[in-house]
Amino acid sequence: MASQQRSALIVGAGIAGLATARALQRTGWKVHVVERSGTLQPMGTGITIWANGTRALERLGLLGAFQDASLPVGGSSHDQFGNVLASFSSDDMRHRYGHPLRAIHRSDLTTLLNDSLYVNTVHLGLQAVKFRRDPHGGTVMLNNGGNMHADLVIGADGLRSLVRHDLVGDGAPRASGITAMRAVCPIGDLDPEWLPWGESWGNGEVFGMVPLPGGLVYWYATMPNAALAQDGDVLWRTLALQRFDSWHPAIRGVILATKSQDIMAHELFDRKPVLAWSGSHATLVGDAAHPMLPFLGQGAGQALEDAVALADALAADWNITSALRSYEQARAPHTAKVVKGSRKMASMAREQKPWKQKLQRSMISMLPQALVYRQLDDVVGRVKS
Ligand SMILES: Cc1cc2nc3c(=O)[nH]c(=O)nc-3n(C[C@H](O)[C@H](O)[C@H](O)COP(=O)(O)OP(=O)(O)OC[C@H]3O[C@@H](n4cnc5c(N)ncnc54)[C@H](O)[C@@H]3O)c2cc1C
Repeated sequence: MASQQRSALIVGAGIAGLATARALQRTGWKVHVVERSGTLQPMGTGITIWANGTRALERLGLLGAFQDASLPVGGSSHDQFGNVLASFSSDDMRHRYGHPLRAIHRSDLTTLLNDSLYVNTVHLGLQAVKFRRDPHGGTVMLNNGGNMHADLVIGADGLRSLVRHDLVGDGAPRASGITAMRAVCPIGDLDPEWLPWGESWGNGEVFGMVPLPGGLVYWYATMPNAALAQDGDVLWRTLALQRFDSWHPAIRGVILATKSQDIMAHELFDRKPVLAWSGSHATLVGDAAHPMLPFLGQGAGQALEDAVALADALAADWNITSALRSYEQARAPHTAKVVKGSRKMASMAREQKPWKQKLQRSMISMLPQALVYRQLDDVVGRVKS
């Protein structure tokens, strides 16, 4: 019995689904992934991965490929005029957490995860429309009229997960009232020395920029929805130019270097954390389990950690149901803290009262580095020296 190959069906081929497929294949599972989209290429923006995510990629045997495709980045917090409030270098991060923060194009991360899987693992254009559990596993009904059965069904289907609906049933996600824009542009003639790398904060808005391999800049901006209401049917580039007009001029330069159609924008959502998200033969990973606002830059990192933790729990315990309980106990309390921390950070970022912003700025600039790191330690995981 113990030598029989077990099967897993993963719904969703985002970072969580692909990483989980990799983790399970490495521990002997037969894995299929169904993805509703006809292509694996995610939106064309960047992403940053903290050391905890890099350690998970290392466990998946992908450290070298990830390092080759990404850049180590340091960063600073600025006010909107470019005055530095606090900063950290990639060497500081490497020293404390074992790896620096790294920036990568999303499509490169997806590609390296997908390339690590056996052929015919991922089935594109197949949407799960219904999910049913039975005493021996779970069955997923598909949009093509077919269905697939496996010993274990894993919902890696993101914010509005169908599998979560069955396992947790907590309705719609929470709207944050914050809109995010994201884009990648060529650095072109912009002087890298002049750009305020990291994040700039002011007026309840945030503008972040990080370098990507290949002479690209990944930038993102967040702002309260109310700031957009008057603009109606907005052209995002025009709006970004208006909103950040009086900020550090390099921000304007980066927006001008971006084509309007390359900017994606949408409202941000999360969910109130839950401590149980598994059933007898089904569980969740990534945003399906613990969607969070992006203000700690941890969603993908936590998804990568889920993948490793789930495979570890299933390798340590042949009973799928109790292994899922161990996985959940290892991950749910921790990710709940990260969801709450991200929400706290979001409420600071959207603060519009000038006196509170001033207070925040002086706190950020006066906070000793050791204290800032101590807050990060919990999330990123300090390496014992
Ligand atoms: C503005 C912004 C910036 C961010 N920046 C960072 C960052 O710098 N660092 C970081 O770590 N995280 C960041 N995140 C978070 C990160 O993007 C997410 O946490 C991560 O991508 C979640 O991956 P996932 O695979 O769980 O979900 P998703 O990426 O949502 O993937 C879910 C997949 O499931 C598929 N799917 C859904 N339903 C079905 C179905 N019924 N049948 C079949 N397929 C289905 C979808 O098509 C999709 O491909 C950011 C998020 C936002 C919004």
